[in-house]
Amino acid sequence: MDENQFEMAERLEQAQRDMAIHKAHNSAAPETHPDFDGEHCVSCDEPIPLARLSLGKVRCVECQTHKEKRRA
Ligand SMILES: [Zn+2]
Repeated sequence: MDENQFEMAERLEQAQRDMAIHKAHNSAAPETHPDFDGEHCVSCDEPIPLARLSLGKVRCVECQTHKEKRRA
């Protein structure tokens, strides 16, 4: 293996590692919140759609969006 090939292989490996980290980061882990009653948004008390509840969300779409915008 000459130096170029080695560097390319290393870069590829790094890219794959970054992708794996990125994936793990994006995987939706169920959220928890001390005030969460299992049905209502922890931020505004609006009922959370079942589809979101099944994803382990503790906030309605609106509050989630707000939260993510603040973080960004
Ligand atoms: Zn809300």
